[in-house]
Amino acid sequence: MNTATTVLVDSSNITQLLRDNDITPTQQRVEIAQLILARHQHFSADELLNQLGHCNVSKATVYNTLGLFVEKGLVRPVIIDPNKVFYDSNIHEHHHFYNVDTGILTDIPCDKLALDYFPPLPEGTQAEGVDIIIRIRNRV
Ligand SMILES: [Zn+2]
Repeated sequence: MNTATTVLVDSSNITQLLRDNDITPTQQRVEIAQLILARHQHFSADELLNQLGHCNVSKATVYNTLGLFVEKGLVRPVIIDPNKVFYDSNIHEHHHFYNVDTGILTDIPCDKLALDYFPPLPEGTQAEGVDIIIRIRNRV
C-alpha cells in the first residue's frame, strides 16, 4: 500500500515524501519528483527528459524513476497506446479527453462521467479502477 495521500507538496517536503513511500531520496529522484509533483500535470517520459536536460539525468534513470514512482503510487500511467504513454501526477480517480489532433490530454472529473452499466467481472477478479479515455478530434 502506498501512503501518498497528498502529491502536491512543496520542495522541502519532497525528500520526506519519498522516504514515506519507501523510496531512497537520491539527488536525481528528488529533482525528478520536484518537477513532476509540483502541480497536477500530464507529461511523457521524453518531455520530462527534456525538462531535466540541464541536470545530466540519463534516459534510463528517468524511465526507472518513473517506473518506481508508478509502483509506489506517486504518479499514474495513462496509456493512450503502446507508443504513447503519459504520466499523471493527479492520482485521484478521474478520466481523460485525448485530442488525437493535438496530442493533448485533459482531465475529466469523475463526477462528470458515470457508467450506467458495468459488466460482470471475470471470475476470481476484483475491480482495480476505471480509467476512461474519450478520444476527440478538432472539428474541420
Ligand atoms: Zn489526468
